[in-house]
Amino acid sequence: SLSDKLHDVFRKLRGQSTLTESNIADAMREIRLALLDADVNLNVVAEFIEAVKTECVGQDVVKSVTPGQQVVKIVNDKLVELLGGGVSELNFAHKPTAIMLVGLHGSGKTTTAGKLALKLKRDGKKVLLVAGDVYRPAAIDQLEIIGKEISVPVHAERTSVNVAAIAVNAVEQAGRQGFDVVIIDTAGRLQIDETMVQELVRIRQAVQPDEVLLVADAALGQEAVSVAEHFHRALDLTGFILTKLDGDARGGAALSIRKVTGCPVKFIGLGEKLDSLEVFYPDRMAGRILGMGDVVSLVEKAAAEIDEEEAKKLQEKLRANKFDYDDFLSQLRQITKLGGMESILKFLPGGRQIAGALSGVDPRHFSRMEAVILSMTKAERANPDLMDFSRKKRIAKGSGVPVEMVSNLVKQFESMRKMMKHNGVLGRLMSGAQLPE
Ligand code: GDP
Ligand code: MG
Repeated sequence: SLSDKLHDVFRKLRGQSTLTESNIADAMREIRLALLDADVNLNVVAEFIEAVKTECVGQDVVKSVTPGQQVVKIVNDKLVELLGGGVSELNFAHKPTAIMLVGLHGSGKTTTAGKLALKLKRDGKKVLLVAGDVYRPAAIDQLEIIGKEISVPVHAERTSVNVAAIAVNAVEQAGRQGFDVVIIDTAGRLQIDETMVQELVRIRQAVQPDEVLLVADAALGQEAVSVAEHFHRALDLTGFILTKLDGDARGGAALSIRKVTGCPVKFIGLGEKLDSLEVFYPDRMAGRILGMGDVVSLVEKAAAEIDEEEAKKLQEKLRANKFDYDDFLSQLRQITKLGGMESILKFLPGGRQIAGALSGVDPRHFSRMEAVILSMTKAERANPDLMDFSRKKRIAKGSGVPVEMVSNLVKQFESMRKMMKHNGVLGRLMSGAQLPE
């Protein structure tokens, strides 16, 4: 995986205090592969890497993270920026607002029309769906079934094939009847085809919609760019909806499309069900494309949440070989704050060893472990060597857990203490100076 590969790269960045052109080269190589793997367009990747490199060079390394992790954070921030920065809202300037959905056959237009209708209806809007795929009766049936399911009316004219006229009729009717939004479903072909495009252009000119959204299948991959460019040139799109992100697609198409057209991705489809349309969040998509969301959130959390005072105190104790149950307790609390072992700990400097020492411990048990430690006397916490079976029994009673659990905790504590005697892992963890093994 990318994170494994990056761990190797990070190792090489050990001990560097600023990011330089040479020490980020390897990280960039891996990130380039990750982007291509996520199906981001080749040219887009090349441009992106150049931009990020420029940004990385010369930056100071944040104290509690490693240089490699910081590179990932910079890459992530740049990705978020390129994906639009924030959420792009629909334009509701006119009433009724007309939204036209276009796209290749099978991309998810009809389903998405229903999903969008449901979403807007839940926002309190009165929505009308328009059956603009008139060549196959089954397409009209499909939209009507969807309309019934979500209790949204469908405007269909089964005897006409003049879609522009049908759409204009629908918008006029919607205006008279106080609808807020009209969503126009249209026909698509398997490939871009001039007849199809000309019909869409006619609808666009006749209706003057507020939004013309290209519905694109996330699995389009490298091809997304040419499809998006073509539709954009003909129709002057206002945005995109990326569908089928519930599948394997990593979402690189979002970046490619945004880069070559400048149009925002507004929603994403995450399933066949009609409530599986979500607002597009650039930061979440960046995490998905990089597959490194954990590292990014770690870098953000590390600075904010690791208590530097605690860390310093702990380091002193480790140096003096005086790790006790109070330290263990504050350790558990730090880890809990950082949000769980699996996702976060393995990215912390030295975190893999800690994970090893606490392996098999469900993080949900941390609060019970905490209760056990709190049931120890001050003397027991400060002097672990006092522990014996009668004390364990008393502690178990006091904290309301079986005595086996107290024994386990003592074992875990002792193995951690032994491990720390040898390499001061916790100290390294908290100092943030070292890199993952
Ligand atoms: P259209 O030809 O563009 O109108 O595409 P449809 O709306 O008929 O959808 C084609 C197929 O894709 C249908 O089987 C949909 O259920 C499916 N589909 C649409 N959106 C999504 C999505 O976000 N995720 C998944 N898994 N399937 C989707
Ligand atoms: Mg359809």
